Amino acid sequence: MKLSRRMQQIKTSATMEMAAREKTLKAQGIDIISFGLGEPDFPTAPVAAEAGIAAIRDGETRYTPPAGTDRLKEAIIQKLKKDNHLEYEKKEIIVSCGAKHTLYNVSQVLFEEGDEVIIPAPYWVTYPDQVRLSGATPVFVETTETDGFLMTPAQLKTAITPRTKGIILNSPSNPTGAIYKKKDYEAFSDLLLSTDLTIISDEIYEKFLYGDAAHFSIAALDPAIKKKTIVVNGVSKAYSMTGWRIGYAAGPVEVVQAMTTLQSQSTSNPTSISQKASEVALAKGEHFITEMVSAFAERRDMMVEQLKQIEGVSCSSPPGSFYLFPNVKGLIGKQHSRGIIQNTSDLASFLLEEGGVTTIPGEAFGAPGYLRLSFASSKSVLSAGLEKIKIAISRLS
Ligand code: PMP
Ligand code: GLU
Repeated sequence: MKLSRRMQQIKTSATMEMAAREKTLKAQGIDIISFGLGEPDFPTAPVAAEAGIAAIRDGETRYTPPAGTDRLKEAIIQKLKKDNHLEYEKKEIIVSCGAKHTLYNVSQVLFEEGDEVIIPAPYWVTYPDQVRLSGATPVFVETTETDGFLMTPAQLKTAITPRTKGIILNSPSNPTGAIYKKKDYEAFSDLLLSTDLTIISDEIYEKFLYGDAAHFSIAALDPAIKKKTIVVNGVSKAYSMTGWRIGYAAGPVEVVQAMTTLQSQSTSNPTSISQKASEVALAKGEHFITEMVSAFAERRDMMVEQLKQIEGVSCSSPPGSFYLFPNVKGLIGKQHSRGIIQNTSDLASFLLEEGGVTTIPGEAFGAPGYLRLSFASSKSVLSAGLEKIKIAISRLS
C-alpha cells in the first residue's frame, strides 16, 4: 500500500527507537542499562495514583468534554497562577493525551505549507517532525555549548523571515538542561513582538531545577508576549505519570478552541481516570516533586563527576531537566573490533551493542558530537551503567 506523502517526511521518534532496540536486546537475555528514554523511575505520586483508583471505583469512567473536565482545568488554572504568575480562564485551557499530543495539536491548528517554524537546536526529537507533519518547514538555530546552549538575540534575528509563523522554546531543555532566565527573554522580546509569530513554550521540565536555578515562563514577561504565547506543560515528568498521558496548554482562546475542535474529531477527551489523577497531582503533589528532585540532584552530581573522568568526554552540569549532554567529540574517529566510530550515532550503537548501555545520539537532537544520558534511574543503576561505559570506551583505540 502506498502511504501518504505526509508520512514519508517523518520517522519514528529516536528516543522511542532506541527504547525498542534496547527491548529487543533485553529479550535476548542481554543485560542492558538504560540512559535512554526520559522518564522518572519513581512510582507515580501516591496521591495521584490513589485518586486514579478512586476514580475507577466512583465510576468516573465516562466521556468528559473533549478539552478536559472543568475540575482539572481549574486545577491547571490554580497551578499556572501559583507557579508561573499567569492568569487564564477555562476557555483558554485544553487538556490532551500527553504534552506530545498537545504540541501536535498546536502545530496542526497553527502551521501549514509555506510557513517556517524556528526551533533552537539542540531540540527535543519530536518538534521537527510535528512541524513537518503540519506541512511547515522547521528552521533550526544552532546554539553552542559556549553559549550554554541558549539562543542569542542575534541568532533569532537572523532566523526570522516574513514566513516565520512560530518558534518552539523549551526551558528547561531536553536534551541540554539549559534554562532561559527572565533577562534572556527580555533580550528577545522586541524581536518576538515585531513579527506575527506564535511562541510555543514547552515547560514540561519546569520542576527539575538544581542549585540556584529558577524557572520563568516567557508568557509572564508582559501581556503582549502572553497574548502570542501558548504555554505547554503536563504531569508526565513532575509526578512520574508518563503512562497516564495527560498534557495541557494555556493560550489565546481562538487557538485553544481550534485545538478543541481538532481533538473532538480525533481523540475526544483524554482518559477520564487520568484526568482525575492529574487534578489531584496538581493540587496536592508538590511534596512528591521536592523529594524526587532532591534525589535527581544527587544523581546529576554523581554522574557529572564520573563522566568527567572518562578520556575523550567532557560534561558540564545542567541547571535543569534530567539529562546530561556530554561532549564526546574526543571519541569520534576511534576504532573498535568491528569498525570505526564515525559519528555519535555509531558511538551510541557501539555502547548499546558492545557496552550494554542505551544512550541517545546527539544527531537525534540536531547536535552531532554529543550524547544524551538520562539520569532518571537509581544511583546504583547509574553507577553500574557508568562502569559499563568506562569499560566499553577503554576498549577503543
Ligand atoms: N516535551 C518535552 C521536551 C519532552 O521531553 C517530552 C517527553 N516525553 C514531552 C514534551 C512530552 O511528554 P508527554 O507526552 O509524556 O506529556
Ligand atoms: N521525552 C522523553 C524523551 O525524550 C520520552 C520519549 C518521547 O516522548 O519521545 O526521552
